[in-house]
Amino acid sequence: YGNFSQNIDYVFKIVLIGDSAVGKSQILARFARNEFSLEAKATIGVEFQTKTLVIDQKTVKAQIWDTAGQERYRAVTSAYYRGAVGAMLVYDLTKRQSFDHMARWLEELRGHADKNIVIMLIGNKCDLGSLRAVPIEDAQEFAERENLYFMETSALESTNVEDAFMTVLKEIYKIIS
Ligand code: GDP
Ligand code: MG
Repeated sequence: YGNFSQNIDYVFKIVLIGDSAVGKSQILARFARNEFSLEAKATIGVEFQTKTLVIDQKTVKAQIWDTAGQERYRAVTSAYYRGAVGAMLVYDLTKRQSFDHMARWLEELRGHADKNIVIMLIGNKCDLGSLRAVPIEDAQEFAERENLYFMETSALESTNVEDAFMTVLKEIYKIIS
């Protein structure tokens, strides 16, 4: 009585990984709360946010984990990856090094996660096109070779953020249903 909580059909854990400052936390803030901040805020410990949505008339709760600064110390633990059915592999398209590190992050992810995990490669900050350091072709080629979905996003301008998560969530749903 008086309890309006929804019935959740599925909970999908998704992890955000990639170098520090590529925009992981802002991508999550944009998707979960439609917020964005230009201030880089260091957070301590593992954090996740949830967003509940409907896919194919089922209520799906996306539980999205953010590394919260651990990426600086290469201390992402196996607990972080445990149970993840989706992953967003994020680089900053104005920082070549953050893209070059994607292979390492992918290796780490594949070493820890379920083999059916759905992975999206994300080139973030596409609003800063004049500072681009990663040609879209390089990322497309890497994504094809490694069998990843790929999108360029802007958390600032809200470009493709929703699309990226929905693509991953729908694919996970397809696999498990
Ligand atoms: P994280 O360390 O990967 O979590 O990165 P943050 O989310 O903290 O973002 C790092 C910095 O990049 C912050 O100053 C953000 O405001 C900025 N940032 C994040 N996403 C974007 C984006 O899409 N465009 C631009 N121009 N800046 C962004
Ligand atoms: Mg962060």
